[in-house]
Amino acid sequence: MFKKILIANRGEIALRVHRACKEMGISTVAVHSQADANAMHVRLADESVCIGPPQAAKSYLHIPAIIAAAEITGAQAIHPGYGFLSENARFAEIVESHGLTFIGPKPEHIRLMGDKITAKRAALQAGIPIVPGSDGAITRDDEAKRVAKRIGYPVLIKAAAGGGGRGMKVANTAEQLSEALSTARAEARAAFGDDSVYIEKYLTRPRHIEIQIIADSHGNVCHLGERDCSLQRRHQKVWEEAPSPVLTSAQRDEIGIVTAKAIKSLGYLGVGTVEYLYEDGQFYFIEMNTRLQVEHPVTEAITGIDLVREQIRIADGEPLSFTQDSVQFVGHSIECRINAEHPETFAPSPGKITNYHSPGGFGVRLDSAIYAGYQIPPYYDSLIGKLIVFGRDRPEAIMRLRRALDELVVTGIDTTIPLFQHLAAQSDIVAGNYHIHWLEEHLRERRG
Ligand code: ADP
Repeated sequence: MFKKILIANRGEIALRVHRACKEMGISTVAVHSQADANAMHVRLADESVCIGPPQAAKSYLHIPAIIAAAEITGAQAIHPGYGFLSENARFAEIVESHGLTFIGPKPEHIRLMGDKITAKRAALQAGIPIVPGSDGAITRDDEAKRVAKRIGYPVLIKAAAGGGGRGMKVANTAEQLSEALSTARAEARAAFGDDSVYIEKYLTRPRHIEIQIIADSHGNVCHLGERDCSLQRRHQKVWEEAPSPVLTSAQRDEIGIVTAKAIKSLGYLGVGTVEYLYEDGQFYFIEMNTRLQVEHPVTEAITGIDLVREQIRIADGEPLSFTQDSVQFVGHSIECRINAEHPETFAPSPGKITNYHSPGGFGVRLDSAIYAGYQIPPYYDSLIGKLIVFGRDRPEAIMRLRRALDELVVTGIDTTIPLFQHLAAQSDIVAGNYHIHWLEEHLRERRG
């Protein structure tokens, strides 16, 4: 087993990886920007290396500095967390070419799934149902019109290189199509440096249901059930739960087995998430994320499996510590992503945290890297913590969530805690009756 791992990330996920390492007796190296010298991930790690100025491009994304930090400290492996370099195939290759282990999938799979057009093709070939749409990139208006006519309006133009909910445009009619196409291309070029776009049927009332997959180097591939991430704002997840309030265990087994089989046929290694939209009893593949997800703790809560520990074991060549038959789904878990943002306007709110109290007690987990007196830098993502609750069933989880939200205190900055207190009291949410557009529609009505 590795003796020392470098964690190429910051915030709660850097702490999450550090904790798994400590439980496994592995020492940790934190890397940080100049803005993060006092960050919790730096304080807790066994060693730390400053890798550059505050801007992510010059620190957390600066590959030579990260490799140098690993070499100087004698780390044997690098865990990329999520975001930053976690889905950068080139980074994975560079890590391996320096004789270090990349704790993640093979570069070829990161590359294949990183382009949504090749990902959809691979999924289809592997027997996964996909959203109806164009077979590949669309460049001409008449081509777009032909595809849209075949699949029916509304349609969605999506960027092949898309991520983080960016680069998507809806067209409700043929008249709207050419403008949507050119805006989507321009946005994709600006955001990702790649203006390839494709067309999909726009589903009007689906749920977002994703399957957690895990594969070792001994040919074992398991699924760990689903997460329902239908509560979204700007195509970004806000509240996630496992299991989904709408799937039966037979449906779970079926989509889980189909997904695991497909992933096995690709020769995939490590953890991954296959994302689907689910409408009228049908699953439609949208993309695969080749990394640990922000929302992985809800799966950990209902399976009891530490996904980061498994990632590290897999990277070290060990087999999965469980078999598909031994996986049991117990109870219900919900995660709320707490952001340093105004709960109604969603304006970012970096600044100093004056007071902080973390909730505790039965069934409560808080993954965060903040503390009283911590100054949230303005340079990075606004996620400051994840509140994860567990109950024997969904009503118990919601009850516990409300109680934990009331206990959680973060002062000095705006946070989205009041939004979750509001959501946990909504009858649609309590009933599990929501889809991917529910939250935006609800917020619009609330603003009046
Ligand atoms: P990203 O990589 O930017 O996160 P995804 O393809 O995963 O993009 O989609 C993000 C979200 O956008 C989905 O969870 C869903 O809410 C919405 N979305 C994506 N494709 C469709 C579609 N065909 N119809 C309706 N909504 C969609």
